[in-house]
Amino acid sequence: MRQIEHFMADGAPGASARKHQIWNPSTGEVQAEVALGDAALLDRAVANALKVQPEWAATNPQKRARVMFRYKELIEANMQELAELLASEHGKVVDDAKGDVQRGLEVIEYACGIPHVMKGEYTQGAGPGIDVYSMRQPLGIGAGITPFNFPAMIPMWMFGMAIAAGNAFILKPSERDPSVPVRLAELFREAGAPEGLLQVVHGDKEMVDAILDHPEISAVSFVGSSDIAHYVYKRGVAAGKRVQAMGGAKNHGIVMPDADLDMVVNDLAGAAFGSAGERCMALPVVVPVGEDTAERLREKLIPAINALRIGVSNDPDAHYGPVVTPEHKARVEQWIDTAEAEGGEIVIDGRGFSLQGHEKGFFVGPTLIDHVTTEMESYKEEIFGPVLQIVRAKDFEEAVRLPSAHQYGNGVAIFTRNGHAARQFASRVNVGMVGINVPIPVPVAYHSFGGWKRSAFGDTNQYGTEGLKFWTKVKTVTQRWPDGTADGSDENAFVIPTMG
Ligand code: NAD
Repeated sequence: MRQIEHFMADGAPGASARKHQIWNPSTGEVQAEVALGDAALLDRAVANALKVQPEWAATNPQKRARVMFRYKELIEANMQELAELLASEHGKVVDDAKGDVQRGLEVIEYACGIPHVMKGEYTQGAGPGIDVYSMRQPLGIGAGITPFNFPAMIPMWMFGMAIAAGNAFILKPSERDPSVPVRLAELFREAGAPEGLLQVVHGDKEMVDAILDHPEISAVSFVGSSDIAHYVYKRGVAAGKRVQAMGGAKNHGIVMPDADLDMVVNDLAGAAFGSAGERCMALPVVVPVGEDTAERLREKLIPAINALRIGVSNDPDAHYGPVVTPEHKARVEQWIDTAEAEGGEIVIDGRGFSLQGHEKGFFVGPTLIDHVTTEMESYKEEIFGPVLQIVRAKDFEEAVRLPSAHQYGNGVAIFTRNGHAARQFASRVNVGMVGINVPIPVPVAYHSFGGWKRSAFGDTNQYGTEGLKFWTKVKTVTQRWPDGTADGSDENAFVIPTMG
């Protein structure tokens, strides 16, 4: 059995008593085991990081950027291998896995600009002979705790920014698909990063708690489900850390009566069912405005969904692959049961789906549920599977209200040809990321990613200048260089200084 170990600076980490099984979701077989670390292992990782971080922080930003440049090239050179490894543990199809790597790589590209991004501010002549400048300095050691669904992109969101800014980083990836994070750390070392700058410790709650409590770790970035995000936020903050914790989602796609329905159906098929719906920016709820729009949309959606091709993750013709674990398959199917019991109309039923030749794989067929209402539990909660729910809105106002009132506020999209309606919607909706005729509005690397409400705890987004803010602290210097003519006495010395 292939063993997946921690990636530590001080060589072989030694045997971990606890292990976690890694599935191949396409075949339903266990393909590897990952070691689960504990507080003692984390102590070693922190000690390694402490040895190397001060020198890295003192390395000029252009030299730090050069390491990021070499890293970018290495990731590109290894794209196929990374995508195949990722797909084999996650279950998403290989092309989609390349997108996972690519969207992380874009943050590495942004981090290549760190000398510019990290420049401070300067005011000359803020007072008589006084200049003020501010600089951003790294925090020291940062940690990232990441979910299974983007095992390349999300770690790179975090460590790309943190390390370029001068921090050392300890990554605790999902224990369900940990191989790509390890590979990313190996490639970073190959790119010339000092040993210990980026380490990977595997684990579950025990390791997460150790990270949250560790006095030498200054900041923790978390992405995962909301209850755990909230827990991580509270415990990390109580320990005096800076914490950003992104949670779950239930993104709505509003379809206005004037929308191009063929485009909408095509976009929805990808956004609701791509990656088997296991994306925090998926569109699992569609909101047609008006009964006529709902009927026309439904008529076009049914054949499009029936035409979806489900396959193993390395099938180049498959639109999507299996979900990540047998437990997750059971959970998604239970949500469909719940939706049915609550009165939702199961228009297309993906329960009990079996792929010929791969009967043990964790596949869920595409599911369409109509006449879903806001009282239903299956609407209120995240399903995280290939399930699309239709919630019919009577007018634009209701379409704004639905995503605004939902407990999650990650992403939302509106499909329309009316610029005024789109503009109104974007301005009023109570959600962090908005797409206008864009189904998955994940912001580009030089903007920033973050939801609202129970989709994010803490107040700083991922990557972009927001990411830089999270991983650095500001120091402001007020300086005066006397010309030597003053007699040293200052009758106002006991009054709070003002600039006159
Ligand atoms: P998860 O919450 O189960 O796991 C996330 C991380 O938390 C993992 O590293 C895991 O090891 C750790 N963890 C698990 N149980 C824990 C516990 N009891 N205490 C402390 N730590 C624990 O999430 P997941 O299933 O891996 O990922 C899917 C979830 O992540 C979905 O809810 C999805 O919406 C969300 N997500 C959100 C975003 C975003 O940016 N908002 C992005 C991707 C995924």
